[in-house]
Amino acid sequence: MTRPLDIVLLGPPGAGKGTQARLLVERRGMVQLSTGDMLRAARASGSALGQRVAAVMDAGQLVTDEIVIALIDEALDGPAGQRGAIFDGFPRTLAQAEALESLLLRKGRALAAAIELKVDDEALLRRIAGRAEQARAAGETVRPDDTPEVFERRLREYYKNTAPLLGYYYAKGLLRSVDGMAPVAQVAAAIEAVLAESEGRAGL
Ligand code: AMP
Repeated sequence: MTRPLDIVLLGPPGAGKGTQARLLVERRGMVQLSTGDMLRAARASGSALGQRVAAVMDAGQLVTDEIVIALIDEALDGPAGQRGAIFDGFPRTLAQAEALESLLLRKGRALAAAIELKVDDEALLRRIAGRAEQARAAGETVRPDDTPEVFERRLREYYKNTAPLLGYYYAKGLLRSVDGMAPVAQVAAAIEAVLAESEGRAGL
């Protein structure tokens, strides 16, 4: 049996991590572990955790490391354990990256790669503003943290807390960068090439 690959997708909000994670789920049967989705589900369920994180999320700030690490710890005992995990929106701080490493180690696993989706921030801001405007025009509700104002705050959070992870993974020889501005299928192909390389290296 082949060993499942565990990978991290890195990049600012709106870079397309969720889209690429979903494609990997379809293509390879891997499991997407998005802390953003988990937190939104907690909010939708009205749980105590959901209520605790609501205001922080709507403001575009980061919830505590402790909360998201606990969510990932629990999720790793599910199907992600057998099929390989795509960490999407996690880790977002160095403390989370270190916690992830020890969680995986404890389960006899290790990251195969951290894949950065490189994007142009100005283009992202235009994309988000357009998306919010379109949704409003169609009478749909806009995600409270997807307005241009909050989006800018999320972008700043990314540069302050998450961008240092690029150096962290580079130093470990795990960082691979792909052009996130390319069409979706092209980005997916570039990610596939990284995974094939990781499998080759691991002799899978
Ligand atoms: P996302 O959908 O990944 O952009 O996440 C939406 C929001 O959930 C973020 O703006 C944060 O408030 C929170 N969040 C998601 N993942 C994390 C994380 N790994 N660490 C801290 N906060 C997170």
